[in-house]
This record gives sequence, structure tokens and C-alpha cells, in this order.
Amino acid sequence: MYDPLHDVSPGIGEPYPDSYWSTISGKSPVSDGKLVGEVSTNVAIIGGGFTGLSCALHLARNHGINAVVLEANQTAWGCSGRNAGFVLKNSGRMSFSEMEKRWGKQVMHAVHEEMSQGVDLVNRLIDEGIDCDKQSSGYLKVAHKPNQMEPLIALAKLQQKRFGYQVDVLTKEQVRSDYMNDKNAYGAIRFHDGFGLNPLKLAWGYQKFSQQAGATIHSSSPVLNWRKMANGYELHTPQGIVKADKVVIATNGYTPKGFHSLIQSRTLPVLSQIIVTEPLTDSQLEQANIKTNQVVMDTRALKYYYRKLPDNRILFGGRGAITGQTANDPYYTQRLLAVLKTSFPSLQQVNIAYAWSGWICMSLDDIPHVYHNNEQDIFYAMGYCGAGLSFSAQAGKRLAERVAGKELPNIPLYQTPLPKFPLAPLRRIGQWSYFQYGKFIDKYW
Ligand SMILES: Cc1cc2nc3c(=O)[nH]c(=O)nc-3n(C[C@H](O)[C@H](O)[C@H](O)COP(=O)(O)OP(=O)(O)OC[C@H]3O[C@@H](n4cnc5c(N)ncnc54)[C@H](O)[C@@H]3O)c2cc1C
Repeated sequence: MYDPLHDVSPGIGEPYPDSYWSTISGKSPVSDGKLVGEVSTNVAIIGGGFTGLSCALHLARNHGINAVVLEANQTAWGCSGRNAGFVLKNSGRMSFSEMEKRWGKQVMHAVHEEMSQGVDLVNRLIDEGIDCDKQSSGYLKVAHKPNQMEPLIALAKLQQKRFGYQVDVLTKEQVRSDYMNDKNAYGAIRFHDGFGLNPLKLAWGYQKFSQQAGATIHSSSPVLNWRKMANGYELHTPQGIVKADKVVIATNGYTPKGFHSLIQSRTLPVLSQIIVTEPLTDSQLEQANIKTNQVVMDTRALKYYYRKLPDNRILFGGRGAITGQTANDPYYTQRLLAVLKTSFPSLQQVNIAYAWSGWICMSLDDIPHVYHNNEQDIFYAMGYCGAGLSFSAQAGKRLAERVAGKELPNIPLYQTPLPKFPLAPLRRIGQWSYFQYGKFIDKYW
């Protein structure tokens, strides 16, 4: 499998992975095909996932700028078409408490407002006519041990005090009788506004809207190299050249090795693994008492997440392999299935129907960065740390504003570059050490 820390290109026109999403979503919308020959544009966007597509859409709709998107493979071939489809009001890994400690109350509120706007934006785009199998609202954050309930209750109270919205506290008995009989759940808090959807259909909706608004989207067109010219940039794909005044990098966890000095050594691509089971029968659902299709995540350091899909399959996810070379080792999918069965022992006979993984993009400071480098006139948004479905829409919209010359809110997410990883060549060893630490904490804490 493509490994961004080792490979210099994610491929050319690679098909979608054999995922549940790519199997059930029907035909993809038609792109503008492979770039052949030379084109000139005001803005070139590299990467056709949520970030790149949202940027292209908002550039066209709100600023009258018709960008050219260059996607190495297919629209949403990266994370955007592989994720679990959890729409949550967050991004990055930093808690709001930590933000308040570092930056003060006002900035923390401003960040929360941006993340809320991300969810609102996704909802508005869906309401414009994207059929993406949106499920009912609710996000259960489940205590994986009894001692995790106290911090969860404190978090619920804090959320209510800070942001003025209701978060339910559910006892172990309530979770198991009213939502799902998860034997690893010792209570939960429930946010009212998270939900699940089909992320590939969502991205295809963004693609259609972007093209209708005036953007051009070239699939099978990886940027292999690019250089600065007297005026703007020249980007080379296998059969074409784009001359652009400004360049937006929207490659996130799929950014190839050595792609550009501005982002070199500033991200850590980490594999997240998903399995999807066969459809559960009515009696299997009854035995496991799975009544909800709301989205579920636990409190482990190395988190597991799951949801019941519209056709009664269970999507279950967690960490994957460390390198691309070992990504397809069945060990990782079997491990997830084993954990699923500890949560629902009555599902011993259930098999895996689909399995795939994707590279999430970690940043050193645990927050995403939407950034403009003035000197080089290059823009980027990345580092969502595995939580970018809704915020990438907002990041793309904000990127578009920045490209159009507007100022962005004065918050670290929009004003600071991705920090460099110290000892960058050792990032994978750091990741491995964190996994060991996480395993220890999850078992003994
Ligand atoms: C398994 C998994 C589960 C996840 N679950 C969730 C979830 O439930 N909720 C949530 O909020 N987030 C989730 N995420 C994270 C979320 O999917 C991402 O934050 C989001 O999709 C990032 O979108 P993006 O457009 O920035 O990047 P991507 O969608 O990764 O797009 C980057 C694109 O750039 C292209 N590219 C790379 N190099 C080049 C080049 N040289 N030339 C041209 N194109 C190039 C790639 O082909 C790729 O298509 C998950 C991620 C994974 C992997």
C-alpha cells in the first residue's frame, strides 16, 4: 500500500479501495478527466478530497474564482472516501480545556465556533441535495472502564457550562438497555448533534457542486513536481502542465515524501483501520440489543469507534498497521473483529465483509492548520488528526477566503504554520512508542 513517508507519489488513476463505501455508493460523478496539455489558472488545488473540493467550491461560489483541482487518483480516493462517516463538532486531538489553558477563553470559544460552523456547513450542503444516507443524530462517548465515567461526567458539565448545550449522562444500565448491550461500555455521555453518513457520497456531492459552480476537476493527475516561476507556479502531471498564480496544497495524510519544503517533516501519517461486518439478522441485533444507529466512540487512548449502518452491518474501526508495507496484514482486521466480539459476545459467528484502511494526518501540536505562506504564496490545510470530516469543509471555505485575499479569524488554527516534528526521521518510532504507552494505559489505568 502507498506509504506517504516512503513513496514519492500516491499513484496515477488508482481505483478506489474495495471498501463498503465504494461498493454501495453507485457510480461516481464524471470528472474532467486526466489533465492533458497545458492550462493556465488563477488557482491550482492539489488533492481532491473534502478540503480541496470545499476550497474549489467556495472559491467559485463566493469569490468568482474557477480553480483547477488536480487529484492523483479519484475524487476522495484518500481519507475522504475511506473514513467512518462520523460528523462531530471537533477536529484535531486537543481538548477545549487544553485550548483554554493555552490560549484563553475567548480563543477557545472562537475555535469551537469554527468547528460548529463546519458541521453547519456540511448540513447545509447536504440540504442542497446531497443524498448521503444521513443517520439519526447522537454521539455516544462511552466509558471503556468504570473509572472513566467521572471524567466523562465532568466533561458533560463543562460542555454545558461553556457552550450552553445539553449533554446527556447515561449509566451503564441505560446504555446497555436503551442503546446497545456493549459489554465494554460502563456508561456514556451523549452529545445530541453528532451523526453518521456515507462520506464518499458526500464528497461526490461536493464534486458535483464544485463543477456546477465552475471548478475543473482532473482525476488521474498527480502533481509529480512543481517550480516557482517569475509569475506564479508551474505544476507538472504525467501528461500536463498547470500554470497557476497561486497553489493550494490539500493532500493531508496522503502528502507524498518530499513533496514541498513548506510541509516537509510537519505531519505524521498514521493508518486507521476499518472493518464492516455482514448485515446482522434481526435476531442478532436483538441478542446484542443494538437499537441505535448513533455514532459511538470509546475513551481509550487508542480509541475504537463503531456505528450500525443503514443495512444493519456494523462498521468498527481503530488503529491499523504502522507502515504501508504491513497495512494489509489480516492481523489488524482480525484484531478489530476480536474487540467487536468482546463488546458483543453474541456476535461470535459474525464475519468481516469489507476491510480497508487510510492515512490520517497527525500534527505535532494536535490541531489542524489552515495556513498561507506569504513569501511563496502557497496555501494549505491539513493535520485534522483523524477528525476532519466536517472541519475540512470549513477549512476549505476558509482557505478560499484566504486565497481571495480576506483575513481569517485570529486563532492559532488559521495563523500559525504546522510545527516541525523534532527528529522527523524517527516519527514512526515515536508512533510505535505511543502505541505501547496507549496499550498500557488502556489496560491498567
Ligand atoms: C479510516 C479513517 C476513518 C476516519 N473517520 C473519520 C470520521 O469518522 N470522522 C471524521 O471527522 N474524520 C474521520 N477521518 C479523517 C477524515 O477522513 C479526514 O480528516 C478528511 O477526509 C481529510 O480530507 P482531505 O481532503 O484533507 O484529505 P484526503 O481526503 O486524504 O485527500 C487528499 C488527496 O490528495 C491526493 N494527493 C496526494 N498527493 C497528490 C499529488 N501529488 N497530486 C495530486 N493529488 C494528490 C490523494 O490522492 C488524496 O485523494 C478518518 C480517516 C480515516 C483514514
